[in-house]
Amino acid sequence: MVKIQHCKQCGRKIFFDGICVACQTENERERILAMPKEELAAAVQSICREIMETGDLEEHWGLFKNLLGYRDIDTTELAKAAFQKGLFYPSELYKDAPDDITAKMLEMVMEDGTDPMLAGKLLLCLAVHGGEDVFQAFLELERHPRKWREKLYANPSVHATYGGWSYDKDGNYLETNFKECYPMVKGTLEEKKKSPVKIGVKTGETCPSCGCALVNLMEIDGSDPRLSFLGISGTAKAKCCPDCLIYSDSTFCRYEVNGESRYFPGEGCSMAEDGPEDQWVEELASNCYVLGKDPVPPRYAADWEGGSSVGGFGF
Ligand SMILES: [Zn+2]
Ligand SMILES: [Zn+2]
Repeated sequence: MVKIQHCKQCGRKIFFDGICVACQTENERERILAMPKEELAAAVQSICREIMETGDLEEHWGLFKNLLGYRDIDTTELAKAAFQKGLFYPSELYKDAPDDITAKMLEMVMEDGTDPMLAGKLLLCLAVHGGEDVFQAFLELERHPRKWREKLYANPSVHATYGGWSYDKDGNYLETNFKECYPMVKGTLEEKKKSPVKIGVKTGETCPSCGCALVNLMEIDGSDPRLSFLGISGTAKAKCCPDCLIYSDSTFCRYEVNGESRYFPGEGCSMAEDGPEDQWVEELASNCYVLGKDPVPPRYAADWEGGSSVGGFGF
């Protein structure tokens, strides 16, 4: 039997000796946020070196993702190294690619004979880079697909969303991500009461289908100046039954900006017994995450273990 142990840092139950994944992530984030400029530059250099020596990014993969997420590093040198070695993954390497490199990549995707796999990767890299030239090229490729398109599942407009933008049928540019980003950080239950964003709040109502407690998965008060970018002129609450949510794909919540919201249970969810759900609701409601004071880079919470943010890139 697996022995239950406790994280040496936060005390939560884990099944190995040491500290839990959440604490490991937090420690690494703290380390990177505190990194002085010279150390940051040296870290970027070590990633560059790996790409130049191996033509790949494996050993420093996590470091790259973290430097990008937490410090939004300039990727110019990384893009140069990656392009030289024909490495087009992860696409974020090309965020700050210089013009001559993006021009060459655009030339490559314009060719009929480009390998479809490569074309797909190039589209993602170009999407992350963005800019007018890329936008115009994507429109052209969408309207006049090249040969490689037959082997890809999605149009360039879908690839574009990887960089936080896209366009409609008429070719109008659209932003699909908020540029602003605020993290959810640990506070106290007292602070949570005042936070304009709350995760997991009990409503006092019960689900008409299964009797489980209804919770607001998220409450957002759009009147907070930090959240003006969301364009919510009131409070929005996303109410759900945490039990039914898992079993039904037609559960809806209608919210009104006066702060009220109504829950509409879907079909096919009538789990009647009281189960571990109540315990789960308690656990969810007792979290004390609050909206961070200061904005962070857009990819701050983009990674699987990166926590949560309002705005920016999701995982
Ligand atoms: Zn822990
Ligand atoms: Zn329910």
